[in-house]
Amino acid sequence: MTVRTRFAPSPTGYLHIGGARTALFSWLHARQNQGAFVLRIEDTDAERSTPEAVQAILDGLSWLGLDWDEGPFFQSQRTERYREVIHQLFEGGQAYHCYCTKEELDTMREEQRAQGKKPMYDGRCRQRTEPREGVSPVVRFKAPERGKTVVEDRIHGTVAFDNRELDDLIIARSDGSPTYNLTVVVDDWDMGITDVIRGDDHLNNTPRQMQILQALGAEPPRYAHVPMILGEDKKRLSKRHGAVSVLQYKEDGFLPEALVNGLARLGWSHGDDEIFARDDLLRLFAVESVGKTASVFNQEKLVWLNGHYIREREPADLVEPFKDQLRKRGGDPEAVTDLIPVIESLQERSKTIAEMADTGLFFFRDFEELDEKAAKKNLKPAVEEPLQAVRDGLAALDAWSGEAVHQVIQDVVDAREMKFGKVAQPIRVAVSGGAVSPPIDVTLQLLGQSTTIERLDRALVYIRERAAQAE
Ligand code: GLU
Repeated sequence: MTVRTRFAPSPTGYLHIGGARTALFSWLHARQNQGAFVLRIEDTDAERSTPEAVQAILDGLSWLGLDWDEGPFFQSQRTERYREVIHQLFEGGQAYHCYCTKEELDTMREEQRAQGKKPMYDGRCRQRTEPREGVSPVVRFKAPERGKTVVEDRIHGTVAFDNRELDDLIIARSDGSPTYNLTVVVDDWDMGITDVIRGDDHLNNTPRQMQILQALGAEPPRYAHVPMILGEDKKRLSKRHGAVSVLQYKEDGFLPEALVNGLARLGWSHGDDEIFARDDLLRLFAVESVGKTASVFNQEKLVWLNGHYIREREPADLVEPFKDQLRKRGGDPEAVTDLIPVIESLQERSKTIAEMADTGLFFFRDFEELDEKAAKKNLKPAVEEPLQAVRDGLAALDAWSGEAVHQVIQDVVDAREMKFGKVAQPIRVAVSGGAVSPPIDVTLQLLGQSTTIERLDRALVYIRERAAQAE
């Protein structure tokens, strides 16, 4: 049988880390088995579902490279089909109308609690034949009263539920709208889903879904319930722990392969390895080897992974995300004709594309002021004379190249018996505004002659003003 998995998010917010991991595992499982990965948007909660959230899910999955073969299907467009199945269950005697009022249900539960029993619906409307005047009934599923429902979970193992603990679930509200467990069942059935991989917060729904599937004569899929994700304080991962939205990571300058790698490691491992490119995951991942216990999300590790993938990628692959980050900072990516050497010069030490853009922004946008600390330390009156000499030497160059730039600086320091860094660092501060940049000859070469001279002149003015103030 062809493997068919699905990702079934409710579009009530952004695509978060937990959802993305479920999607990744389902996608991997489908791809490893030459199966199909179905995308289904569970948007029956009209009040909480938004088109923006749907878009964020589609964009997030696309960015991660988790392509789907079918869908997106929208539950909101399948109302007729759900009604049909509810009707079918009703006609088949597997569902019934329940007219109980809220007050009745409250009293029932209170009595059960008083007797030390677990509060649950006692099935009192099962026998009812007459409607109740003025009350629109809900529809309840007639759940088996005896025996067990056993979930053979690929992660949690055999989980048996006593059917006496599972009461008659509402499958249609009094306005006729279907409930979550019913829509999931109908969709998993209609869409021929063979493998459900989802969060283990749904494990308790599974026996109910299996019972409904069985009542419909459908074979339940195989289930794998992945454990929760916690923050480093061992509390459920939430916004308190930093970015949890997948697209926020994109905004923050992460590469999708770093996120995919990090997501895969949430609950799954393979020896002590940390680095898993997509191909490695396709080869090594196995849903059965996902652990049962909650996994802890480690932001630092993700940053480390991101640095790894930034170093590993061809500079050409980083051009687009780098441009995005520059634009966000008011930089003009066109200011430098060839971005590749700029990227190459920043790749080694940047952990995110955002950091890369921060460090390299001075190539693409003039800075407003010098970093105070760096300027104080490096642009001292004593450096005025050698800096002026470098400026004049550079201005006299006919051919602007890294080597020529280097030679000018070298001559100036040699003549004054200075260390190279004593002049190079002030130049760096002068042209970049701060204390960090690629090697100085590379920096100046990329910046171009006129910008270099302009910025050196400005730094010289700064030094003179400073000296004047000190007098
Ligand atoms: N829509 C459900 C959720 O977002 C998932 C349902 C399922 O995977 O069965 O939690």
